[in-house]
Amino acid sequence: MLLQGTGALRAAAEAGTAIPGFVAYNLETVQAVVASAETAGTPVLLQAGSSAFKHAGRDALMSLTLGAARRSTAALGVHLDHSRDLAEITACLEAGYTSVMIDGSHLPYEENVALTREAARRAHDAGAWIEAELGALAGDEDVSTGAAAAAGSMTDPAQAAEFTEATGVDALAVAVGNVHGFTATPVRLDLDRLAEIHKSVPVPLVLHGASGLPEEQLLGALERGVAKVNVNAELRRAYLRAVADALPTALPGSDTVATWAAGREAVTAAALDITRRLSRGAR
Ligand SMILES: [Zn+2]
Repeated sequence: MLLQGTGALRAAAEAGTAIPGFVAYNLETVQAVVASAETAGTPVLLQAGSSAFKHAGRDALMSLTLGAARRSTAALGVHLDHSRDLAEITACLEAGYTSVMIDGSHLPYEENVALTREAARRAHDAGAWIEAELGALAGDEDVSTGAAAAAGSMTDPAQAAEFTEATGVDALAVAVGNVHGFTATPVRLDLDRLAEIHKSVPVPLVLHGASGLPEEQLLGALERGVAKVNVNAELRRAYLRAVADALPTALPGSDTVATWAAGREAVTAAALDITRRLSRGAR
């Protein structure tokens, strides 16, 4: 069933737990995330961004994801990840997405505010909630580049408060040393900065780039207002490893189904493990 509204997100923030935002590029990943949510019995967000649409086709991936979420017994939000495009946001809202992310973090502050405010108006008119980003993350959404975080682009707590107030967003993605994708050296979050942001911002916080984050860093983030954690690279790696392992057996008979099923099974297990860790939180 579709998970509507910010209730689950706010409850997670209250409890010091988080809801996972799993990026799904294809049929098997969508099925895996849905299966993991049905087993976990806790809310999960199924999400994809512009780059996943480029791969699968927007209409195809939208209907695949929404259909799977609606048919499931699990509570699944369907979320547009990292969009810079108001037309794309509108298309997803019209299709029935329960939330969207507008990413104006590449823009000068005033332009980010203006773009985000307009996106928030559209989301709220459609009965959806909206996430925005302030501060810029290193790395790439779709591949691990081994990038290191740049300190200069971290989220400023006072500006974050002003931004949230000016735009009316329901959740805020922060840059506190987190990096998209796996990194060559372990990431260290600036937890003091995160605590300051949490103190000054009244909405739940979102952590992108959590793949490979040491457990104590992740739990530290959940204690400081992070209620949604985006996960992408960990699922991609699980999928590819399982497919690679299945290939020697599958290739002689050209058994594609067994290969894709192996990927799906691995993603289901990885997503379930992450969901349980996040829903246990720091307790
Ligand atoms: Zn991201």
